[in-house]
Amino acid sequence: MGSLTSSSEKAEGGGSRRAGWKEFTSPGRGPWRDVPAEEWEDWRWQLRHRITSLEQLERLLPTLTPEERAGTLLANRKLALGITPYFFNLIDPSDEYCPIRRQVIPRIEETRTAPWEMSDPCGEEAHMPVPGLVHRYPDRVLFLVTDRCASYCRYCTRSRMVSNASGYDFHPQFDRQIDYIRRHPEVRDVLLSGGDPLLLSDEKLGELLSALRSIPHVELLRIGTRIPIFLPQRITPGLCEILRRHHPLFISVHTNHPRELTLEARAALERLADAGIPLGNQSVLLRHVNDDPEVMLALVQKLLMCRVRPYYLYQCDLIAGSAHLRTSVRRGLEIMQRLRGFTTGYAVPTYVIDAPGGGGKVPITPEYVVEHTDDRIVLRNYLGEWYEYPEVPDSPVPAVHRATCCAPGTV
Ligand SMILES: *Cc1c(COP(=O)(O)O)cnc(C)c1O
Ligand code: SF4
Repeated sequence: MGSLTSSSEKAEGGGSRRAGWKEFTSPGRGPWRDVPAEEWEDWRWQLRHRITSLEQLERLLPTLTPEERAGTLLANRKLALGITPYFFNLIDPSDEYCPIRRQVIPRIEETRTAPWEMSDPCGEEAHMPVPGLVHRYPDRVLFLVTDRCASYCRYCTRSRMVSNASGYDFHPQFDRQIDYIRRHPEVRDVLLSGGDPLLLSDEKLGELLSALRSIPHVELLRIGTRIPIFLPQRITPGLCEILRRHHPLFISVHTNHPRELTLEARAALERLADAGIPLGNQSVLLRHVNDDPEVMLALVQKLLMCRVRPYYLYQCDLIAGSAHLRTSVRRGLEIMQRLRGFTTGYAVPTYVIDAPGGGGKVPITPEYVVEHTDDRIVLRNYLGEWYEYPEVPDSPVPAVHRATCCAPGTV
């Protein structure tokens, strides 16, 4: 909505930075400009050349701050430093608060733990009937396939295991997880996550998906991945060919800022969409990254342009050392309020808090019900105007009617 943009641009004193958010550009080769194109575009080359040490980081980013330097020195005891060259080039070296930089470069604040912070904030360990399989909800499971990611997000809710910096030693064999699913006919939806499932080789991923597809009660396969954002080169035609053999298969990507949606990322997402895969996005609400209605509006609109439907917006979990990246729930609600009604309904994610300790995802919505009595409901629309809808008294459905009206073939 025009008035939203202009008022906040005025408040911030100009829109030159935000004007570029919705453009699709490429971060380019940067310091790797002499690398041949076929190597740069090879996902294995990108992985081999990740930035993983302070020495590399200092050389490539001369503006590294003392807080970042100290954080990097300690990172390998908690969550490893890892950034693909492709993603590194999205960092603005002149901006300490660059939203890309804050997501992947460690800071000293990570080593400070508040009393309410946890190493397993979503209580996953307590819901694992076999190692690497979280069965919390009645009809679906979370299947952890690896502890590796293409780059590491400093706020990762699974920092306890991801990157293995703190010695979790996750080596799933898959057999026990698959066997559990086979013995539990109520499991109709399997969500592969980790770590990043798309880091498995084509062959290994294909075998895993086939094994799951051979279980008759598994209706839906899902993959949670940040690969299209961190390593779009991995989304090869060969990978898409494997994925499309296992439909219905959905993919959720993880994007937090519109600048992550580059020409390369859009092309990767389009390859997945063209393989018939419905795409969703999960964002984490992060301070100085996307805790601003204008950033979020640009992000969700740009996602739709990449054929990705915003799915969840997560309140940042209480992972140890994340206080500097967390934002208030009040701010999250304000952002949600600025999306609903002001832009395409498909662009509006569900804002959730993963209840600390293991309660699962709980949706948080701005209040649109002003009053609800036996005879009316008073509603507030997105502009803050009130409307009334008469309430209908509930009466039991007559048994004879219920029996026929819901039977297949009668409507
Ligand atoms: C998020 C999550 C799921 C999937 O939840 P949906 O709301 O169906 O996307 C399943 N299991 C666990 C443990 C989860 O955290
Ligand atoms: S990609 Fe996902 S699993 Fe990997 S570090 Fe980031 S948030 Fe954690």
